[in-house]
Amino acid sequence: MEDQHKRQKKGKVYLVGAGPGDPGLITMRGRYLLEKAEVIVYDYLASKRLLKYVPADAQFVYAGKRGGVKHTHTQEEINQMLVDFALQGKTVIRLKGGDPFIFGRGGEEVETLAAHGIDFEVVPGVTSATAAATYAGIPITHRGYTASVAFITGHEDPTKSDSNIDWAKIATGIGTIVIYMGIKNLPSIVKNLMDHGRSPQTPVAVVRWASTPEQKSVVGTLADIADIVQREAIKPPALIVIGEVVNLRSSIDWFEKRALFGKRIIVTRTRDQASELVAGLEEHGASCYECSTISIEPVEDYHILDEALEMIDEYHWILFTSLNGVIYFFKRLYDKGLDARDLKGPDIGVVGKSTADLLLKYGVNADLIPPVFTGEGLAESLLDQGVEGRSVLIPRAAEGREILPETLRGAGAQVTIAPLYKNIAPGGRRDELRAELESGGVDMVTFTSSSTVRNFLTMVDAENQEELERLMAGVKIAAIGPITAKTVTDSGLKVSVQPATHTIEAMIAEIIEFYRSG
Ligand code: SAH
Repeated sequence: MEDQHKRQKKGKVYLVGAGPGDPGLITMRGRYLLEKAEVIVYDYLASKRLLKYVPADAQFVYAGKRGGVKHTHTQEEINQMLVDFALQGKTVIRLKGGDPFIFGRGGEEVETLAAHGIDFEVVPGVTSATAAATYAGIPITHRGYTASVAFITGHEDPTKSDSNIDWAKIATGIGTIVIYMGIKNLPSIVKNLMDHGRSPQTPVAVVRWASTPEQKSVVGTLADIADIVQREAIKPPALIVIGEVVNLRSSIDWFEKRALFGKRIIVTRTRDQASELVAGLEEHGASCYECSTISIEPVEDYHILDEALEMIDEYHWILFTSLNGVIYFFKRLYDKGLDARDLKGPDIGVVGKSTADLLLKYGVNADLIPPVFTGEGLAESLLDQGVEGRSVLIPRAAEGREILPETLRGAGAQVTIAPLYKNIAPGGRRDELRAELESGGVDMVTFTSSSTVRNFLTMVDAENQEELERLMAGVKIAAIGPITAKTVTDSGLKVSVQPATHTIEAMIAEIIEFYRSG
């Protein structure tokens, strides 16, 4: 008995619906299971962005299954693979686009598992039909228009005589008709519906890549939708929504109307900073490419800060000029067994509102926030109060701007700079970044500090100014404040967006305003 236990834990396969494309549309159960995966077998239509929840040491298997293109694995191979992994005792997540049991061959997969006596569970997902309708501004049912809806596969050629689909009944017997995998056969599908009595004026919407930043919808009638789809070159994956409810789109379309919908924005940032900017831009419909241009590392030696902490009451001021300065300062403070109560002596100044907000999370209210959120702004506010003979501690990056300490020293202050962290430019992702820029699809790049500008340029690694300008042609630049903007213009590029207040929130608002005013 014990031997058997030791030999193997029992494997289990979870069929998980990934939802239609937006990674936020997976269920909580699905997300929880991704985190438990030892093997993940995923499809073309399951959002790749969900893979970040899977442990890095799991085995990743791409199952392919892209309509029209050669399948990477046949369905039989996939079924067998699930059985084999489970027999090895693995926790297997089979991640499938939309809902596993709606035109996803999930039924066949679990039948095979059942036949082999393997444990399984199926987690439903948001199917692409409801998502496509919703994200195209179409209520799939509506009291005033339709009381029924049918999901139909368009994969089957409707002209074939032994069709499983009774088009005659569907044409007039169902209110809203949603067709999966129907782009190729669209001309014969619409003809069939009209031949069987559905009005040629029935409105139709075709929605490609629903719920993603690439979503595209076109609208027409049964009579003309096939021509429209051909003219607009709509390719799979796309859904066809047929019925009077499509007319509601004109008044309630919301997803494609968002201010930044369809904009591709490169967001440069430090690897460790939570990406408030990305979340904010995506909220308004932008598609962001996150480019970590710098990563932060602690310095090897904290003796300057340690000495300062021993006599912290003798300082008149502690000045924080960056979020990382706050983070690393408190980390060290806590490591030494101290906390916010030990900071009651000195006054605390910060460079801007975000730093003040972060500081408050550590239980400290800033005494001074300058009206202008820069090192110069902070220096000026301090000079107004008089700094002659005052002791000032500045915990910050090893390589920082010297303007604040120099101005204060010039006015007679005793300034101690405590280096806490280093900015390091990572290499490696150059090719990916270059490919993004070469694609010509990038609308904007955002910079939130001078070092992101410098490191971005290092990463782009243009041979000369001409090449840099070619790569950046048509790409607008947003800079968070005047110092960052100056670093941009010094490199020969032009800044199009610069918020008046230097916060992420203001930057997002300014970017929206930029596109709104066209
Ligand atoms: N199980 C999936 C369907 C798989 S069949 C689900 O529940 O959604 C594949 C078809 O689904 C595609 O040909 C297309 O018609 C549709 N589809 C899947 N994801 C889609 C998306 N994001 N946008 C539009 N159609 C999609």
